[in-house]
Amino acid sequence: MVHVVWVAATATTAAVALVAWLIAEWGGPQTTEAAAMIGVLAFAVFAALSAVWAGWSSRGRQRLAWMCLAAGLGGWAFGEALWAYYRLVLHADPFPSIADVGYLLYPVGACAALLLFPLGHSVHSRTRLLLDGLIVVGALFVVAWVTVLRFVFGSGSESAFAAVLYVTYPATDVIVVTVALLILVRAKRPALVLLTLGNIVTALADSAWVYSDARNVYIEGGLVDVGWIVGLLLIGVAALASGRGGVTAEEVLGPPKRVELWMPYLPVAIAAAVCAPFLLTMSGVPPLVVSWALLVSAVMVRQFLVVNQNQRLLAIVAEQALRDPLTGLANRLLFHDRLSHAMQLQKREGGAVAVLLLDLDDFKRVNDSLGHPAGDALLVQVALRIVSCVRPGDTVARLGGDEFAVLTEGGPAQSRRIAHRVVRAFEEPFVVDGHALVIQPSAGLALVPVDDDSVSIEDLLKRADTAMYSAKRSTSGGLQTFTPDMSHVAANKRDSQGGLLLEELRNAIDNVDLTLAYQPKFDLDNGDIVGVEALIRWPHPELGVLAPDQFLPLVHRHGLVQSVTDLVVSRALDAAVEWRANGVAVPIAVNISAPSLSDLDFPNRIVRALAERGLTSDALTVEITEDLLVDNIDRAQAVLERLRVRGIRVAIDDFGSGYSALSYLRDLPIDEVKLDRHFVSPILTDTRAAAIVRAVIDLAHVLGVTTVAEGVENGETAAKLQEFGCDVVQGYYCGPPIDAAAMLDLLRRRGQRSSDGSSAGWGDAGTSRSEIELMQ
Ligand code: C2E
Ligand code: CA
Ligand code: CA
Repeated sequence: MVHVVWVAATATTAAVALVAWLIAEWGGPQTTEAAAMIGVLAFAVFAALSAVWAGWSSRGRQRLAWMCLAAGLGGWAFGEALWAYYRLVLHADPFPSIADVGYLLYPVGACAALLLFPLGHSVHSRTRLLLDGLIVVGALFVVAWVTVLRFVFGSGSESAFAAVLYVTYPATDVIVVTVALLILVRAKRPALVLLTLGNIVTALADSAWVYSDARNVYIEGGLVDVGWIVGLLLIGVAALASGRGGVTAEEVLGPPKRVELWMPYLPVAIAAAVCAPFLLTMSGVPPLVVSWALLVSAVMVRQFLVVNQNQRLLAIVAEQALRDPLTGLANRLLFHDRLSHAMQLQKREGGAVAVLLLDLDDFKRVNDSLGHPAGDALLVQVALRIVSCVRPGDTVARLGGDEFAVLTEGGPAQSRRIAHRVVRAFEEPFVVDGHALVIQPSAGLALVPVDDDSVSIEDLLKRADTAMYSAKRSTSGGLQTFTPDMSHVAANKRDSQGGLLLEELRNAIDNVDLTLAYQPKFDLDNGDIVGVEALIRWPHPELGVLAPDQFLPLVHRHGLVQSVTDLVVSRALDAAVEWRANGVAVPIAVNISAPSLSDLDFPNRIVRALAERGLTSDALTVEITEDLLVDNIDRAQAVLERLRVRGIRVAIDDFGSGYSALSYLRDLPIDEVKLDRHFVSPILTDTRAAAIVRAVIDLAHVLGVTTVAEGVENGETAAKLQEFGCDVVQGYYCGPPIDAAAMLDLLRRRGQRSSDGSSAGWGDAGTSRSEIELMQ
């Protein structure tokens, strides 16, 4: 690259020296004339060689462009050489001559070159560039004609061909300059600036030459030649400066700029203004001219309107490109843009930036059970609800699927308040197609403190994501704010949750690697174990034993529910068979979620599974763990009815945890209601809660339904429940979940004890503390 700088510097120095020589007219007029001609020739050769070099060092269309320019410059050099020969050797002054052919090659080559530079233009926009150039030329010609040319031609001293040539030089120059300027508007590259400047200077020199030559006042070696020398120098240096890919301008992609649309019309307006007084003062202007003028004006105004409309459409399209079409919220692109803006502002002016990420829990279930239109309707409602919780300046975006993001600026306290408000807004059910859906988000909040400018956008988003994932994993769900200690484990697990964990889960299902823990249910009156609930576990080789909350969302999201249910049912029934073989017969309960309830074949599969093992239907209880209203309540009713007709017990799980619990009691055919532990646990401290639990137990009894209290963790609660008339209890106090062998052991021991006649009592499930911890 260094040698290029040297060449450019040498050429510039030579040009300065030459110009000084010409201006000083050193050596007299004849010497000056010769110096001027040879100088112009030398610089034309210099520019041509530079263009060849630029073409050689670039590729593709750029190379072609430079080569066209080189050809044009070569033409000029040839013309100049011929001219010098005419003048210096033959002492002739022919005009027009073959030299003019060479000269005229230049604008052709330059124009082709400018149109060829790969500027991200389509064929259309290239054509438009050329047309713009023509419009400008037309306009300028009118001006030139009215002001100067008609006087030149009026003299009648030249041939028609010479006259045409006189006009051709400045006209072609104007095209080149216009095209160069139009391109320059889009891409301000140093090489392009130099090239345009060079063309402007040569164009001025050409015009000056036409004027002075036509009036016979042209002197070789004067200012006109200085103009050509400087112009050629600039063009040559532009070629040298272009280097490899120097003129390529990626930034030209995108909608055209306003000035670019208007620039060509400016000369037209000027031409009209210049002509108007001339036309008006002319006697007997033909009506044709006036009507043409009107026509052209109308076309121009129409063009103006179209251009304006296009600009508006472009603005709309650009706006839409930044919006989520379903909800009208910002999309990921706009969110990133706003976030980066907010972060920059934060770095400059302080202030806190916070990102809240939300992911709807079990959204896929809505899609699966109610259909995509309902899912879409839900997303729109969610969007509206989030927007209603934020301030006007905050940005709410849908990042994709069921993932939303909120960007808040201002104090951390404010951001926290808004985040809580957003999450609380989900407490109210969403009504979609007449279904009341309770949808909970997992939400992660990450804040950049006021004085911390080391956090990047990626960091912030990752933190919010980590917090969100932590919320998803925690049983309490809801909102989590990022803390550094959550970062690693959670992030890693999230990564694996994306791909690896799912793959592993699929394998675990295929290989029946999922296991069951069993938790006893005790009769509150006599302490007998009246049932056992099967709870799924995933003994993961690296992550340890995973609880259902840690992988069931994945099961639901990826449509693996049916295989998991089948796996659980067959494992549970296998255990029941084994226990029976060991002399203990106790009903086993399995958890079933929504998709199975809309599967009319499900009861048949259950019955088959029982029959294959020679088990009677009273060996099995089905617990409906569904917390989301099932898609088709009629279908669910039918499925449950079929199960019951075959003698399988049906239990409603998690009663009182917040969903249409009472209507379940009323509408669904059930045998058992399991009171959720959050419903049960306050009965010791909260008299109103206690009254409600008591009333529900009474109500269930009126309906002939067995009541089971879940999550009983202490004796006092058990005693209170007994007092309320509850039938069955389940919980860590009475017996935690244990593995199949331990359960068999427990059942046998208790069976022995009851046959001894001693009271077993549910406060002592015969499980040691360490066993309890092991199973958790
Ligand atoms: P669930 O059906 O309500 O099961 C009871 C959950 O409460 C179990 O958690 C159990 O370990 C826990 N638990 C039992 N006693 C106590 C107690 O005294 N205190 C407290 N705090 N918790 C107690 P687990 O095993 O983590 O299961 C969580 C949920 O996952 C289950 O809630 C059930 O909805 C679902 N689930 C478990 N196994 C299956 C399955 O095989 N299929 C399906 N679809 N869902 C399952
Ligand atoms: Ca259950
Ligand atoms: Ca439950």
